Amino acid sequence: MVIGGGSAGLAAAVALSRSRRTVLVIDEGNPRNAKALHAHNVLGQEGTNPLDLLERGRQEARHYGARIIAGKVDVLSGSLDAGFTVTIAERSYTAERIVLATGLIDNLPPIPGLAQAWGESAIHCAYCHGWEVRDQELLVLGIGAMSSHQAMMFSQLSSKITFINHDSSALTQENRATLEALGIPVLEQSVKAVEFNDQGTLTSVLLTDNQRLNAQTLVVATQMQAQAALYESLGGSLTENPLGTFISVNEMGATDVAGIYAAGNVCNLGAMVMAAAASGTIAGAAINADLISSQLATK
Ligand SMILES: Cc1cc2nc3c(=O)[nH]c(=O)nc-3n(C[C@H](O)[C@H](O)[C@H](O)COP(=O)(O)OP(=O)(O)OC[C@H]3O[C@@H](n4cnc5c(N)ncnc54)[C@H](O)[C@@H]3O)c2cc1C
Repeated sequence: MVIGGGSAGLAAAVALSRSRRTVLVIDEGNPRNAKALHAHNVLGQEGTNPLDLLERGRQEARHYGARIIAGKVDVLSGSLDAGFTVTIAERSYTAERIVLATGLIDNLPPIPGLAQAWGESAIHCAYCHGWEVRDQELLVLGIGAMSSHQAMMFSQLSSKITFINHDSSALTQENRATLEALGIPVLEQSVKAVEFNDQGTLTSVLLTDNQRLNAQTLVVATQMQAQAALYESLGGSLTENPLGTFISVNEMGATDVAGIYAAGNVCNLGAMVMAAAASGTIAGAAINADLISSQLATK
């Protein structure tokens, strides 16, 4: 059973279905990049709409026999020995192995208007959106360890960057030296609101001194939180790094809870679409090998 049908979960489903395993994917249908119009750095599918990409993935998984149902899994119970059970819409499904491919939540700083801009004019990743905003005026919201790193990455794409030191405690002397070396000015202000025109296009940010800065694009780091409640409910614990919390896995996608594998953003906060899909393929292949070994052991 694969819980989550984004790039990671669908890739796991394809690998398992092609190995003639019986596969059920349960997907709530809210992939992290749903608001983006194009997915970039996706080899062979460059610039495809993220939702179209997943529709193709679903067709490929179904082609090999995977079943995909819509819904959110709230409770996952069981163990490797007893088998795992999920109940959804009053129907129970059991599985010998689970792939958790539930992705992550991007927690934004609580600035009015920011959530509306997120994924379109408020962006986080130079590889996902950088080319599209090349040479534009970019405002980087300084809120944590990632922000000066983002300024550094986007400096390869535009020379017109301003760093707004929104959370001044987050910027170390070393960060300041990096920004200075890159010629990026630091504005000692906080952002009160993100503002739009009547068409919903980002126009400006309002600072605490009531100054307005024109803006087409705001670069913002999120605090990333793996959607891992199901894992924790089985006794799994999460790992933390400066980007956020996630499930630790070995190189084959196995977690510390026997029988539970994980793939994609739930276990790798930095994974882009191709890396998420690759980890899904690996987890699917690992489960297939694991099942062959356990079938042999019972002979
Ligand atoms: C705005 C934005 C733009 C991006 N652009 C790019 C880009 O251009 N190129 C690129 O390579 N990467 C891009 N990314 C990163 C990309 O979104 C991720 O790499 C990718 O979504 C990770 O895939 P995933 O399968 O791990 O998670 P997701 O795609 O988030 O899929 C997880 C799925 O699991 C479902 N789910 C969660 N919990 C449950 C549950 N309990 N029960 C059932 N289903 C559940 C979710 O609803 C979702 O459908 C972007 C990210 C953002 C935020």
